[in-house]
Amino acid sequence: MSKELADLVFPNIDKTPEYYEELYPKRNLKEGAVVTRFAPSPTGFIHIGSLFTANFASRFARQTGGVYYLRIEDTDGKREVENGIPLIINGLKVFDVKFDEGPTDETHESGNYGPYIQSKRKEIYQAYAKSLVEKGLAYPCFCSEDELNEIREKQEKLKIRPGYYGQFARCRTMSEAQMIERIKNGEKFIIRLKSPGNPNKKVRYTDLIRGTIEFPENDQDIVIIKSDGLPTYHFAHAIDDHLMRTTHVIRGEEWLSSVPLHLQLFEMLGFEIPTYVHMPTIMKDDNGSKRKISKRKDPEAAASYYKENGIPKEAVLDYLLNILNSNYESWRKENPKASSYDFIISPEKISVSGAMFDLVKLADVSKNTIANFTAEEVYSQGLEWAEEFDKDLADLMKAHKDFTIGILNIERTGTKIRKDISKWSDLRENLEYLYDEVFFEKPHNDEWQNITDKEEIKSILTEYLNMYDENDDKDTWFNKIKDLSEKHGYAREVKEYKKNPENFKGHVGDVSTVIRVALTGRKNTPDLYEILKLMGKERIAKRFARI
Ligand code: GLU
Repeated sequence: MSKELADLVFPNIDKTPEYYEELYPKRNLKEGAVVTRFAPSPTGFIHIGSLFTANFASRFARQTGGVYYLRIEDTDGKREVENGIPLIINGLKVFDVKFDEGPTDETHESGNYGPYIQSKRKEIYQAYAKSLVEKGLAYPCFCSEDELNEIREKQEKLKIRPGYYGQFARCRTMSEAQMIERIKNGEKFIIRLKSPGNPNKKVRYTDLIRGTIEFPENDQDIVIIKSDGLPTYHFAHAIDDHLMRTTHVIRGEEWLSSVPLHLQLFEMLGFEIPTYVHMPTIMKDDNGSKRKISKRKDPEAAASYYKENGIPKEAVLDYLLNILNSNYESWRKENPKASSYDFIISPEKISVSGAMFDLVKLADVSKNTIANFTAEEVYSQGLEWAEEFDKDLADLMKAHKDFTIGILNIERTGTKIRKDISKWSDLRENLEYLYDEVFFEKPHNDEWQNITDKEEIKSILTEYLNMYDENDDKDTWFNKIKDLSEKHGYAREVKEYKKNPENFKGHVGDVSTVIRVALTGRKNTPDLYEILKLMGKERIAKRFARI
């Protein structure tokens, strides 16, 4: 009898679940290999929380010799944007997240478990739904919007749980003959699960992060196939993760409360239950209170924010690993130059109480990340950013490539490593005054500090230029400044000055500040000796002549 109903509901479906079971056999992977996926809706937006999850899931799969695949969840047509798939793939590629299988663009894909785009899997979902109808485990529901509202109002009045369940599930008890008649009459319907659950009973499951959790059983007759013939998230999750042979469902904690329903679906469909891993939500401190990072309020919620602001991917990934596994930070300190892929991540170490995300801490991580780059890396990554977001700077960097790398190389090795760059957008501030094109364009900033007499300044500069020799080593160079200081009545050493300040006009620092300010227009710069050397005597003279 149910066969007649099933055929009427899905007249075009002739394949059976057995067919698909054979088509998508168990994967032949080594013991312990994790097969997991990224399953976004193609909305064109990658949330930092999705990146957090993808960064973990892809590494976890790789670490175990498993598979990380992309599945596009586009069964909710309203939310999609054009180019949604390339936006996702490229948005994640920026952060080194790559897929072993899945769509490679709107029309191509790789892997043996596809199609990996849900809207192309309609027949598969319907074959399983058909078999559930045939077994009496699912049924067509004809309730209109008005009828569903009526049910909701009644439940509100009675102050009981909302939903389509038990006595409220009107179509659940309809006779098959009546169902058949209504379909034959051309009435619209959807397919609902005939839930066997009892909310007074409990189900238990073990989440890899959260441990064992107990929930009441699901008794909602949820929609599995919508009026457009496409599945709901819940049904597609069960079918896809089973047929694609997912071992670990790694997803956001907003799905935690749906687990009883998902366990029920897997059981009713006769599928093996995967391991669930519910990732903590990314939180931020908002004036002392903790809240979710929001797409609407926080620009840093978008993964694209980091690229636009010139925060290197290495820093973002390091920071995301910091908030994922608390032992990552100390590992990174011990292995500053190692690839983050050498770190073994542990799902058990993920905190359950929401991951705190802080842009100030990220900037700090980023400073250290960039401090560990070579000057060439800083140059090439900085240039790549500037090409897109600060074209003028990019042109200057290219016109003075060796000089720029030389400047970026100052204090990059040894004990005192410079940490003045936390994002590529800091490069302008760090570099522009060193390019003559910019230096001579802008009014000279002469905050001379202690020495302010213009004549004295000029004579210091003239004398200094006479004694300056590009071939001096650092000690000789500094001794010359000391000699010059002494000659003008300034102490050779700061210590000496501090002991008897009344004997001097000031100290060697005041004189070198004059040289620094005349040369750069700034009080603070990287090592002056190195800058002078890179500029060369001719450019130094030109800059001094401006005073
Ligand atoms: N499409 C779902 C989402 O974007 C996927 C959840 C999952 O990974 O199962 O939230």
